[in-house]
Amino acid sequence: MIQSVAIIGAGYAGLACAVELASKGVQVTMFDRSHVLGGRSRLLTKDGHRVDNGQHILIGAYTELTRLLRHTRVSPKVLERMPLTLISPGRFRFRAAGLPAPLHLAVGLLTAQGLDWADRLAVIRLIRFLKRKRFQLPPEHTVQLLLHETGQTGHTVAWIWEPLCVAALNTPIAYASAQIFANVLRDSVAAHAGASEVLIPRVDLSELFPVQAARYLATRRGKLRTGTTVKAIEPVEGGFRLDCDHPTRQVFEQVVVATAPYHAPSLLRSAGGCERLAKQIEALEYEPITTVYFTLGEQVRLPAPMMLLSDGPAQWVFDRGQFGGEAGLLACVISAHGPHDSLEREELEITIHQQLERELGRRLPAPDWVLSVVERRATIACRPGIVRPDIHTPVPGLWLAGDYIDSPYPATLESAVRSGVAVAEAALRRMSRRH
Ligand SMILES: Cc1cc2nc3c(=O)[nH]c(=O)nc-3n(C[C@H](O)[C@H](O)[C@H](O)COP(=O)(O)OP(=O)(O)OC[C@H]3O[C@@H](n4cnc5c(N)ncnc54)[C@H](O)[C@@H]3O)c2cc1C
Repeated sequence: MIQSVAIIGAGYAGLACAVELASKGVQVTMFDRSHVLGGRSRLLTKDGHRVDNGQHILIGAYTELTRLLRHTRVSPKVLERMPLTLISPGRFRFRAAGLPAPLHLAVGLLTAQGLDWADRLAVIRLIRFLKRKRFQLPPEHTVQLLLHETGQTGHTVAWIWEPLCVAALNTPIAYASAQIFANVLRDSVAAHAGASEVLIPRVDLSELFPVQAARYLATRRGKLRTGTTVKAIEPVEGGFRLDCDHPTRQVFEQVVVATAPYHAPSLLRSAGGCERLAKQIEALEYEPITTVYFTLGEQVRLPAPMMLLSDGPAQWVFDRGQFGGEAGLLACVISAHGPHDSLEREELEITIHQQLERELGRRLPAPDWVLSVVERRATIACRPGIVRPDIHTPVPGLWLAGDYIDSPYPATLESAVRSGVAVAEAALRRMSRRH
């Protein structure tokens, strides 16, 4: 008998779940309120420019996402792979060596510019400390406390740990969970050399996986209803019926709520019996991410494709032209809350342009085009002791997927994909028990 599953949300979590189910012969119907696939990682088209709603980076440790990319026949060429590289112009330069672990880091540290011996020993001390603790830290500890306990120097905090923490956890070190940061370090810099590689998409984020996943579904009887908001989930005999813009009488045996956390509670409440879970999700806190895009003309090329910025407000700049994008298009990223929150949009754009000139040590052309993308609830804040829900709900056959679901990792594409795969496995187990 053919099983039918509805998935609400065509972000990376929902699509991962759909691909897994479809590969096992399950009939999947996906709903998304938007016409653009990818949710919080999607293409934006403005004034003839194609950019993402925020610059994303992946790392080699994102094994589930890379497996699904292979499974849906995405060419490996769409990801630019680079050794872990931290470059702050004129101040600091670290590049992991092309050697097996742990030599890749050891040689990288030895040859790093801008670090003295006290800095190098501090980095080694932190990694050794975590290894001694088997990467298990008290749940209430912050990253700041971890850095203090392991005697980190001003340089290692400013040039290594702070940028890595805010990039990975989207939470400032003062409030970030030391345990989740330790998990990321364990599976990246402290694992094999490939795990710490940085992977930058050379295509837009809708094309990277969502469009390929949708093609995969289309060849396996999957249905995709974009531009369709699901308003309620009604439990009925034999499953669930969905109340949406284009009403369908179809009864789905199982339903996956794969929305962002802030859209999940109303859907859960509509199904009944989920009040506690809805409240738990509503208690989650968020951090923003702002990406300011500038086009500065084809002649502008940064000394490295991805650079650390240390003076604020921007923390990283990416030269999209060096990742197969428009020449002269720069993406400047500010993760998490900070003093920039009080700046007006135009003021922020001018401040970042000036920051770029200062840190690059040269005048830059005035931008031809500027776009600021402010995602106010980009991800949940990865604070110590955070309680993330798991994939189960109190209603049998109703599941949750998304980057906010309980995971050793912060709210990232990898967490989103892993939750989707976990739901698919659980839904398949339920089907095999019932039929
Ligand atoms: C600016 C920015 C930068 C980021 N940088 C990184 C990074 O560098 N690396 C990284 O790994 N992660 C990064 N992230 C996080 C990453 O984008 C998210 O973890 C991931 O996209 C979440 O996917 P998801 O499927 O869980 O949810 P979403 O992407 O939010 O997908 C949910 C989908 O549900 C749909 N939906 C909601 N309600 C309904 C409804 N009622 N009916 C129908 N459809 C509905 C939405 O339209 C959406 O498409 C970043 C996020 C942002 C915003």
